[in-house]
Amino acid sequence: MLIVKKFGGTSVGSPERIMNVAIRCVEDYKKGNDVVVVLSAMGKTTDDLISLAHKVNPKPPKRELDMLLVTGEQVSVSMMAMAMASLGVRAVSLNAFQVAMHTTSQYSNARLKRIDCDRIRHELEDRKIVIVTGFQGINKYDDYTTLGRGGSDTTAVALAAALHADACEIYTDVDGVYTSDPRIVRNARKLQEITYDEMLEMASLGAGVLHNRSVEMAKKYGVTLVVRSSLNYSEGTVVKEDAKVERMLISGVAVDKNADRVSVIGLKDQPGVAFRLFDILAKANVNVDMILQSIGRDDTKDISFTCDDGQMDEAIKAIESNRERLKYHKIDMNSDVAKVSIVGAGMMTNPGVAAKMFEALYNEGININMISTSEIRVTVLISEREAERAANAIHDAFGLAD
Ligand code: ADP
Ligand code: ASP
Ligand code: MG
Repeated sequence: MLIVKKFGGTSVGSPERIMNVAIRCVEDYKKGNDVVVVLSAMGKTTDDLISLAHKVNPKPPKRELDMLLVTGEQVSVSMMAMAMASLGVRAVSLNAFQVAMHTTSQYSNARLKRIDCDRIRHELEDRKIVIVTGFQGINKYDDYTTLGRGGSDTTAVALAAALHADACEIYTDVDGVYTSDPRIVRNARKLQEITYDEMLEMASLGAGVLHNRSVEMAKKYGVTLVVRSSLNYSEGTVVKEDAKVERMLISGVAVDKNADRVSVIGLKDQPGVAFRLFDILAKANVNVDMILQSIGRDDTKDISFTCDDGQMDEAIKAIESNRERLKYHKIDMNSDVAKVSIVGAGMMTNPGVAAKMFEALYNEGININMISTSEIRVTVLISEREAERAANAIHDAFGLAD
C-alpha cells in the first residue's frame, strides 16, 4: 500500500512530538508499505514568522513573506528525516523545489497545478520514507509560493491524488471531525463519517480542521480522507462521497470569527448600482461573502456585505475612491461580527430547519444581522461576542450532542 500521512503543527510541535510521529510512520513502513509524509511547520512557527516580518514591515511584500514562511516547513521535514534516521530507517526530506510542486503564480494564496512524481517514486522504490514540506509550492518565475493558511492539508491530498495513494490520513490535535469545534462547543460529538459536500461547507464556513481546498480536491479526485489524532489511536472520521451516517437533520455547526461587515448606505435605487459596487470590489480583489440589499425607500437603498477581516480596509478604500461613480450617503462598518452556520444534507428535504436555528438564537436573546442560505446550509451574521453562546445553543437545539 502507498500511504500519505499528513501531520499538522501541533503534532510536530516539539522534538518529542516529532519522535512520536516518526515512530508512527515507521510502524507503517515496517509493514511493507510505501510511506509519504507531509508536514506543517512546528507549532506556531508560521504565526511567529508572520509577526517577525511585521516587525520590519507592516505590509511585507507577498513574495518575500512566502520566501520566509516556507522555512517553517523545511525545519519540520529535515527534523523528521533525522528522527527517522535515528530509528535506523532510510528517509529523505524534500521541499517544493526538490519535488517540483507547481502552483499558480499568486503569492500567499497559490493553487497547486501539477506535481512531478518522479523523484518521490524513485525514492520510494529505493525503500525510503519520503517526507515532503506542506503548504509550499513553486511558480513559473521559480519563486516559492504558499497555498494559504492551513494549506498543508491540500498538499497531502494533491500528493495522494497524484501518486494514486491507497490511503490519505490527516493527523491533527483532535480525534476527528466533530459536529462543531470541540474547543468552542462543549457537547460537540465526533462524526464517524461525513460527505465531501458537507465537509466542504463546514471547512469553508470556518471549521479549520481541514483546509477547504483539500476537501475540494479530495472530492474531485475521489480521495477518501481519514482525519484522526496523532496523539492516540482512536478511529477518526472518514470523509468521502456518500456517508452512511445516522441521518441527522444537520451534521454540524461552524463558527467563523474572521468576518467583517460593510454597509453602503443611501445608494440610488436604480438598475446597475449593485453591479457597479461589486465590480469595484472585484477589481480590488475583495472576496465578498454574504450580501444583503434593503428594499428601496425615497429612491435610495442600502447594500451590506461581509468579507474576510483582512480585506475590510481594502474594500472601504475601493468604495471611497469611487464615491463619484457610486453616489452613496455614507459607509458603515463593523468588525465585531461572526458567522455561525448550520450544515447538513438533511435540510434539503426537511422544512423548518432555519426556523429551528432562529428559535435557538431568539431563546438566547441573540440578534441576527444578516442571513444567507444554500441547499445544505444556513448562515447568520451576529455579534462576535455572542458567537460561542450561539453555537452552543444551536448545537443543543438540534440534538447533536451524544
Ligand atoms: P493542524 O495543525 O493539525 O492542521 P488545525 O488547528 O489546522 O490543526 O485544525 C485542528 C483544529 O480545528 C482543532 O484543534 C479544532 O479546534 C478546530 N476545529 C474547528 N472546527 C472543527 C470541527 N468541526 N471538528 C474538529 N475540529 C475542529
Ligand atoms: N504552516 C501553515 C499554517 O500554519 C500551513 C499548515 O499548517 O497547514 O498555516
Ligand atoms: Mg490545519
